[in-house]
Amino acid sequence: MSDTTILLVEDEVQIRRLVRTALEDEGHHVLECGTLKEGMAHLHADTIQLLILDLGLPDGDGIAFIRELRTQFPLSVLVLSARSAEGEKIRALDAGADDYLTKPFSTGELLARVRAQLRRLPQEGAPAETHFHFGDIEVDLAQRNVTRNGELVRLTPIEYRLLCAMLAAPGKVLTYRHLLRAVWGNAFVESNHYLRIYVSHLRQKLEDDPAQPRFFVTETGVGYRLDI
Ligand code: CA
Repeated sequence: MSDTTILLVEDEVQIRRLVRTALEDEGHHVLECGTLKEGMAHLHADTIQLLILDLGLPDGDGIAFIRELRTQFPLSVLVLSARSAEGEKIRALDAGADDYLTKPFSTGELLARVRAQLRRLPQEGAPAETHFHFGDIEVDLAQRNVTRNGELVRLTPIEYRLLCAMLAAPGKVLTYRHLLRAVWGNAFVESNHYLRIYVSHLRQKLEDDPAQPRFFVTETGVGYRLDI
């Protein structure tokens, strides 16, 4: 058994059973409940690394719940919801969710997303990471240096800032608004076309096949995710 505790807040008993079994087969310790009130009680009573949260719950809306718990608990939040509209995903991610999976989902995809979230949990006492290695790419934030197969890759200051903003949260879905604010500042949060251009520059410079990106993944209508 791993030392990871996952809390599942979901009012549909069948989905709960399915998700719980899949997570326990991976060796995780799972707590479950069907209301936000019980969920909050678990957050206060137990040390939880990952919350898997349905949005439509009998005693309230999951998005307000995310906003509330974000101020108190340092854990990853994966939303599992039947709401598939892009606006809902963006609301949940902007409220502080780390990832979003739409029902119906496959347990294979759920487990992959759970693994991605658990990989990015901070290791206790470890310094913030400054060195990243993915595919042929190495990034050394301390030296401000990006290489591909050992050759220096020249990035413009904007491209480098965008790469850093994405490296700050690998595996997390980052909304357009979040990235625009991080790279260009508050005045540019509506300028989605800037992002499209600069993400495509990074793909040209860092992906083997920029048309089929492996690392700089588009979350359609929502934003981007760095899959490393
Ligand atoms: Ca529900």
